[in-house]
Amino acid sequence: MEKGSVWDLPDVPEGQLPPHIQLQRTRVHCNSDAPTHTENVQYSGAYSSLGVDNSLQLEQFRKNFRVDVIRLEKEEMEFDMVGIDPSLANAFRRILIAELPTMAIEKVLIANNTSVVQDEVLSHRLGLIPINADPRLFDYKSENDDPKENNTIVFKLHVRCERGSPRITVKSDELKWLPNGSEFSLETSAANSTSKPKTYTSFHTSQETLHDFSKKPIAPCHPDIILAKLGPGQEIELEAHAVKGMGKTHAKWSPVATAWYRMLPEVVLLKEVEDERAEKLVKTCPVNVFDIEDVGKGKKRAVVARPRGCTLCRECIREDEFKQDIALRRVKDHFIFTIESTGALPPEVLFTEAVKILEDKCERVITELS
Ligand code: SF4
Repeated sequence: MEKGSVWDLPDVPEGQLPPHIQLQRTRVHCNSDAPTHTENVQYSGAYSSLGVDNSLQLEQFRKNFRVDVIRLEKEEMEFDMVGIDPSLANAFRRILIAELPTMAIEKVLIANNTSVVQDEVLSHRLGLIPINADPRLFDYKSENDDPKENNTIVFKLHVRCERGSPRITVKSDELKWLPNGSEFSLETSAANSTSKPKTYTSFHTSQETLHDFSKKPIAPCHPDIILAKLGPGQEIELEAHAVKGMGKTHAKWSPVATAWYRMLPEVVLLKEVEDERAEKLVKTCPVNVFDIEDVGKGKKRAVVARPRGCTLCRECIREDEFKQDIALRRVKDHFIFTIESTGALPPEVLFTEAVKILEDKCERVITELS
């Protein structure tokens, strides 16, 4: 093979396959027009003519798989998942969005609403408020179940803008948790009745005595979500009942604002880019992937300093000038995963819960097959 061919490409991953095949197997090639080699080669006999066993090996997977946490904040987390198939990375994304339960307002009992926001719009807005309650401590409530302390959270909202006062903004912090359940009477009890009037919930005990709710009272995750504006003389009085559900039923139960991933970008300089050309290249990239390195004797050259930041805009290979000098690739089994929680559970807990759900699914399949 002559010099200067694909065999000499820098950063070609090592493997039993010839470098150009190994490159096609492990990297998506991002060309100026369209990406190539996007497929994941899963067929076990794909490279048998070259003496390579391409079948999935559990031992190999165990050896290669790793998770590196890059950034962990209260509501957001970025981590690298390496050595995994895109279908599995996507399974985690879908579980996070649609199959991890949370608590969300499902039923709104409106006693009075004289605001300009219609009942159904107000109910919809209430439904989308993330509730700071661990869903693992509650049961699902079916149509036929009574609303009890283990399956329902009740909030009350009663705000009035007095005549002569300025307009007021009703925010989510006005939702007050009722640990003893609903306060609205289900039926008008007889005037001489001494028994407690029946309400819309049947709590046997206060939720404050359960778990550690007395230390951490249940409330919306964010206190400043605007629900409505009230003018003088307007009033809202309602009860909102939250139950456990999943994002696949309605997006309000999704525990993530977003969960997404991208393949690790790989930016490779195939040839030296020097002096004025180096400066031009640095200016071309909108996210500063390239830097200038001093090589002495007044000479400069471009280096790839921040490849992870590459957004693959292809600006650097749009013009013919650098097309032959730069290779833009994506690593097929390295995913930069970002989870943005709505606040009910921390992002790291959401991921571990997603792993448990996938594990359960696998166990179910194994049981069905055996
Ligand atoms: S593709 Fe865009 S972001 Fe990536 S290195 Fe080129 S110019 Fe920069």
